[in-house]
Amino acid sequence: MTPLDIAIAGCGPAGLAAALLLQRDGHRVTLFERFDVPRPIGSGLMIQPTGLAVLARLGLADAVIRHGARIDRLLGKTGETGRTVLDVRYAALGAKAGFGIGIHRASLFGTLHDAVTAAGIPISTARTIAGSVLDRGKRRLQFDDGGTSAPFDLVVDALGTRTPLAPPTGRSLAYGALWATLDWEEPGFHGSALEQRYRKASVMVGVLPIGTPPGGKRAQSAFFWSLRADRREAWRARGLAAWKDEVLALWPACAPLLDQIVEPEQLVFARYAHRTLRNVAEPALIHLGDAWHSASPQLGQGANMALLDAWALAKGLREERDVPRAIAKAVAMRRRHVRLYQALTALFTPVYQSDSILLPFVRDRLVGPLSKLWPATWIQAAMVSGLIGNPLRPLGLGTQQHG
Ligand SMILES: Cc1cc2nc3c(=O)[nH]c(=O)nc-3n(C[C@H](O)[C@H](O)[C@H](O)COP(=O)(O)OP(=O)(O)OC[C@H]3O[C@@H](n4cnc5c(N)ncnc54)[C@H](O)[C@@H]3O)c2cc1C
Repeated sequence: MTPLDIAIAGCGPAGLAAALLLQRDGHRVTLFERFDVPRPIGSGLMIQPTGLAVLARLGLADAVIRHGARIDRLLGKTGETGRTVLDVRYAALGAKAGFGIGIHRASLFGTLHDAVTAAGIPISTARTIAGSVLDRGKRRLQFDDGGTSAPFDLVVDALGTRTPLAPPTGRSLAYGALWATLDWEEPGFHGSALEQRYRKASVMVGVLPIGTPPGGKRAQSAFFWSLRADRREAWRARGLAAWKDEVLALWPACAPLLDQIVEPEQLVFARYAHRTLRNVAEPALIHLGDAWHSASPQLGQGANMALLDAWALAKGLREERDVPRAIAKAVAMRRRHVRLYQALTALFTPVYQSDSILLPFVRDRLVGPLSKLWPATWIQAAMVSGLIGNPLRPLGLGTQQHG
């Protein structure tokens, strides 16, 4: 296709990856971001073999691996009995098994953003997007100060789950989590595992190693405490000391991590939403990443799906002769995988984050023991890797083998 003028709205993983891929294909790309200085919000996340496949094609996998922590296993136990109810090992996928990377958001963002800067892609900062308008087959962005952008052949909506470029849809979930980035404390934790402890489905504490961010001196961990959104004030009112006692009763090894928390502001609450957009491709507009689909991070797929979406868009534009066909193709290459993981996440989230008594009972006594047996071991590893539904094949991607 002849080079296009493309506006990319949002400097998250979807927007930054799309900008790199599309500029490399010869398109004229401009990024738009609300922040004065683009920056990520939040603690850590997990990159899966799917996301790593895209990062490898961008030449950025090694940097992400270097600044993150390799994750080989997800281990979840009940706090009271120490019974293992979740034990997923990537190695269960056999010779082609990949691994996860626990990484600070700032490290992932910094890696993508540095590449965007090095590629000379312009970023229009401090521009809060309020909407978009069609103008003779092209699309303009509208800003909250009343201004309007130049017309673009294509606008890529990578504005995340609260995008103003799509009609509101979906629902906020009752549960979210308090997150903190803390110095990594080796004794008591597996260096290459995401570990969680549960009490029923209403209490969950987790520790994820996230490596050493660029310029950092110490390895870090993402610490999270699951909490119902309407209990935030009650949590704050109880005070840190009472809360720490509750965490320690569930998981004593957390003591050195908790010692680092001296004020409640160190814990940032993230509330989750479950939404899937119906119309993903519109005239001169496509929605990618969380702007298309978002869910609780229970299966740790969101950023990885965003990277796959960006790759699909670039592939569609490479292979089709006009914008409508290209974006329809991009959506077609991704839709099945998106539907599958939205459904799987909706299915599993209440098992780990809800007020249900029955679901955690079944999880702890039936599903936990069964999940240690083949083929459950394989299915769980494929699910966590993001590989259920074979999403890489239509995209012409393969998982990477790293040492
Ligand atoms: C607590 C938590 C843990 C998570 N853990 C994982 C995990 O382990 N693995 C995983 O893969 N995913 C995880 N996710 C999900 C993951 O963070 C998202 O799926 C991913 O960030 C989506 O990327 P995106 O680029 O689509 O959107 P975002 O990352 O949301 O980026 C959107 C960008 O658009 C900008 N923006 C927004 N609105 C406007 C506006 N009006 N005008 C201008 N700019 C705007 C924002 O500033 C931002 O830069 C987690 C999410 C949360 C909340």
